[in-house]
Amino acid sequence: MLSNLAARDVETLIHPYTNLATFRETGSLVLERGHGVWVYDSDGRPYLEGMAGLWCTALGYSNEELVEAAREQMSRLPFTHLFSGRSHDPAIELAETLKELMPVPTSKIFFTSSGSEANDTQVKLTWYLNNALGRPTKKKIICHRKGYHGVTVATASMTGLPANHADWDLPLPGFLHTGCPHHYRFGEAGETEGAFAARLADELDALIQREGPDTVAAFVAEPILGAGGAIVPPAGYYAGIQAVLERYDVRFIADEVICGFGRLGTWFGAEAMGMRPDSLTFAKALTSGYMPLGGISIDEPLYREMVSQSAKLGTFGHGTTYSGHPVACAVALKTIAIYRRDGIVEGVAAKAPHFQARLSALADHPIVGEARGVGLIGGIEIVACKRTKRQYDPKAGVAARCVAFAQAEGLIVRFLAGDRIAVCPPLVIAPAEIDTLFDRLGRALDRTRAWIAAEGLA
Ligand code: PMP
Repeated sequence: MLSNLAARDVETLIHPYTNLATFRETGSLVLERGHGVWVYDSDGRPYLEGMAGLWCTALGYSNEELVEAAREQMSRLPFTHLFSGRSHDPAIELAETLKELMPVPTSKIFFTSSGSEANDTQVKLTWYLNNALGRPTKKKIICHRKGYHGVTVATASMTGLPANHADWDLPLPGFLHTGCPHHYRFGEAGETEGAFAARLADELDALIQREGPDTVAAFVAEPILGAGGAIVPPAGYYAGIQAVLERYDVRFIADEVICGFGRLGTWFGAEAMGMRPDSLTFAKALTSGYMPLGGISIDEPLYREMVSQSAKLGTFGHGTTYSGHPVACAVALKTIAIYRRDGIVEGVAAKAPHFQARLSALADHPIVGEARGVGLIGGIEIVACKRTKRQYDPKAGVAARCVAFAQAEGLIVRFLAGDRIAVCPPLVIAPAEIDTLFDRLGRALDRTRAWIAAEGLA
């Protein structure tokens, strides 16, 4: 029976990333409050939030210091903007703090309200840069198949997932995709991870050559692919990719929207995965998800060209009302202060072996083909046959069913295309809660296996 709120919901809201055809039957999970890593629905039932909301609530729920930072800024100066040289102290201080933290040479910071807007800005600035440099044909953007970079017209084009392209008239021309670095699914029989990584670097090289290096501007990649399946690229993969990009003078952008701010046990995913990008995109855990805020780092060569273009054109014609919103910046400053004071990133590194051991153990489950991650993130893949890696008919919705069983067990996790399930809890999760998470996920897998048998799925 749908609760009253859930019934009102189906009559009024369009939900992002929801099957709108079946939504009326499946209904919604209406959450009302949260505490630590726990959230409570409108009937008071607790759930362990195994996805940190949408990969973002790193400090968990009910963090009163973040609430107080927002309250203080909201009562002092709830809004001003950064247009035409207007400024405010939280944005200045946050940009200074981020410059210190960035693992790449950073001259300036540009703020947005979301990851999509931030990646959209990366595309526009890449084009702007190449116009400034007098190479107007060098504009194409390459991303991974199964990469996720957002939903605006440009960033949905960057995203390499069918649901973001089919019937949306996307990708736009000039947005290309290269091989997904998922050895379990795309490695050939007997191919080592190293050989697979080298093959993908060759594939990227061939793509750039085929398109013409004079037309390829940037490669944008997540350290670990998140929404595409919580996929870990092979060791050394990015070193091979980087060499190709350098050969053709292609800008390298790391999309740190999920991996930034500690998720992999390092401040940024680029550090854990051996990437040396020109720029980073960040959002989500920057404010622990308490306020919408994203942004990008800007290196000195790009900054110089932006200034020289402005000298010619009179203004830098980009920015949104809420870029660098003061309340969001105040919350971000407090979030980073807590990460530093409480050693949150070091804490992730310390808890990761336990988390990863519990995750890898799921690979022994009869319906699990792969269970792999880094830090406090991981993905599991459900398969019909462990030996051949054959998958169930996508229409059966096996991973979605498993996620529903997990919810019935009091655990929130997320299903992704290809019968994958992502696990990405708040960074403050305690070791005993890690055990609760994986105990419940294990029971959800058992129930899924029983359901598969009852349905006679093959
Ligand atoms: N990049 C990555 C890696 C993401 O995971 C996401 C969101 N899941 C985005 C970009 C888009 O961010 P937003 O939803 O804030 O627009």
